Amino acid sequence: MTHSRFFENVSYYFDKAAKHLDYPKGLLDQIKICNSVYSFKFPVKMDDDRFEVIEAFRVEHSHHKMPVKGGIRYSDMVNEDEVKALAALMTYKCALVDVPFGGAKGGISINVKNYSEKELERITRRYTSELIKKNFIGPGIDVPAPDYGTGEREMAWIADTYAAFHHGEIDAFACVTGKPLSQHGINGRKAATGRGVYYGLREAVRNKQLMDKLGLSTGLEGKSIIVQGLGNVGYHAAKFLQEDGAKIVGIAEFEGGIYDPNGLDVQAVFEHRLETKSILNFKTAKNFEKSEELLEVECDILVPAALENQIHDGNAPNIKAKIVGEGANGPLTPGAEEILLKKNILIVPDLFLNAGGVTVSYFEWLKNISHVAYGRIGRRYEESSVKNVIAAIEELSGKNLSDSQRAQIIRGASEHDLVNSGLEDTMIISFNQILEIMNSRNLSDLRTAAFIKSLDRIAKSYFELGIFP
Ligand code: NAD
Repeated sequence: MTHSRFFENVSYYFDKAAKHLDYPKGLLDQIKICNSVYSFKFPVKMDDDRFEVIEAFRVEHSHHKMPVKGGIRYSDMVNEDEVKALAALMTYKCALVDVPFGGAKGGISINVKNYSEKELERITRRYTSELIKKNFIGPGIDVPAPDYGTGEREMAWIADTYAAFHHGEIDAFACVTGKPLSQHGINGRKAATGRGVYYGLREAVRNKQLMDKLGLSTGLEGKSIIVQGLGNVGYHAAKFLQEDGAKIVGIAEFEGGIYDPNGLDVQAVFEHRLETKSILNFKTAKNFEKSEELLEVECDILVPAALENQIHDGNAPNIKAKIVGEGANGPLTPGAEEILLKKNILIVPDLFLNAGGVTVSYFEWLKNISHVAYGRIGRRYEESSVKNVIAAIEELSGKNLSDSQRAQIIRGASEHDLVNSGLEDTMIISFNQILEIMNSRNLSDLRTAAFIKSLDRIAKSYFELGIFP
C-alpha cells in the first residue's frame, strides 16, 4: 500500500471532470494546486523526560472561500502528499455540499498507541501553538476538526490552547469544530459523518433507475452491508444503516474481521471490542484473520471507512459488492475505480458521502460565532404557536387529540433536530444534483459528476471575485 500518489490520484479525478468544463486552463490550475503547505517539526518532552521530535503538517488547499476547513489526522502514515490530497478533497467536498469554506487538512506523524494521554495532550497543544505562530489557525482563517486518530478530546485541547493565546477574543472557540458539547460543541457532530453516510446511501438505494441497473430492489431494508473500520465514521454509519433495516453482515478492523450472514448487532460488537480490545471472537460470527479478505466477500454494499488505497488493482477484481460507499477519503485507487466501473459496481464517492462531518462542523462554527445554541430562542414560541393552532382546530371541529398525538405534534425543534434536519437536507439535495449531472451528461460514474458540480461552483466564485475576468 502506498500513499505517495494520493494527491496525484485526486488530481486525476479533477482532470477527468475538468475536461467536461469550459474554463481557462490558468483558472483550473489555480483551483488544483495547494495554496499553502506548512511542514514543520517540534520537540515534545515525553513522560520519561526524553525529548522527541514530532513531524507535522497543515495544508491550506484553497483560499477561494475563508476560513479554510479540514480535519487533523494522527497516524504514523501521515506524510505531506497525504495531507495535500486530503486538503484538496476538503475543497471539493465543501464546494459540492455548498459549505462556504476553502479546503485544508492537518496531520501529525505519530501512532497514538505509542503515547500516553498526557503526551498526546502536550503534542496537541504544541502543534496548536505552532499553527498560531504561523497564522494557520483562527475562526476566520483556518478551522480544524477531527479526522482519523483524533476526536473531541483533541479538539478541546486545541480550542483551549487557542483561547489562551487569544484572551478576550469573543469568537476564539470558533477556531476548531468537533469540540465536546461542554466546550461549545454542537449536538450531533460526533455522529455526523456516519449519519451523512447513511443518508447518502439511503438516497442512492431509493433511486429505482440506479437499483435496476444493479439488479437490486430499492430501499435499505434487508440489504447486506460490510463495513471496514469501526471508528467514528464506520461505527455510526453501520449503526444508522442497521437501524433503518439494513443487515451488517461483516465488520473489518485492524486486528481482523468478523462475518455473520444473519447480521451482526453493531452496538454489541462495539461493546465487545471495548471489553476485549478486539472485534474477533464475537458470539458465533466467523473470524477473518486477514481483515482485507472480508472486503472480497459477497454483499450488497461495501463501506470502506478506514483509510485510503484500501481497494487497489490487486483486490478490485475480487470485489463482489454491488455498491461501494466511500465512508473514508480515497479508499479506492483510480485503477481500482476503473475495474469496479467495468464490473458495473456503483461507487458513491467520498467527496459526497462523507461530507456530513464538515456540514455539521459548519453548523457548529455558525453556533460559535453567533454565540447561541440552535433552538434556544424559537423553540418555546414554536410550541405555543402549534398549541394555539391545535386549540383552534379542536374548538372548530369539536374533536380532541389524544395526549400522545398532542405531545408528538407540540414539540419545538431542539438543536439535535435542527442539525440532523440540515444534514439530511444537504445530503439529499447534493445527491440529486450529482445524479442530475450524471444523467444529463451521460456519464458513467457519480464521482466525475460530483467533481463537475464542485469545480463549477469554485470556478464561478473565482469569476465573481473578479480574479479571472
Ligand atoms: P477513526 O480513527 O475514528 O477510525 C478508523 C478506524 O479504522 C479505527 O477503528 C482503525 O482501527 C480502523 N482501521 C485502520 N486501518 C484499518 C484497516 N487496514 N482495516 C480495517 N480497519 C482499519 O477515524 P475516522 O474519523 O472514522 O476516519 C475514517 C476515515 O473517514 C478517514 O479516511 C477519514 O479521513 C474519513 N473521514 C472522517 C471524518 C470525521 O468526521 N471523523 C469526516 C470525513 C471523512
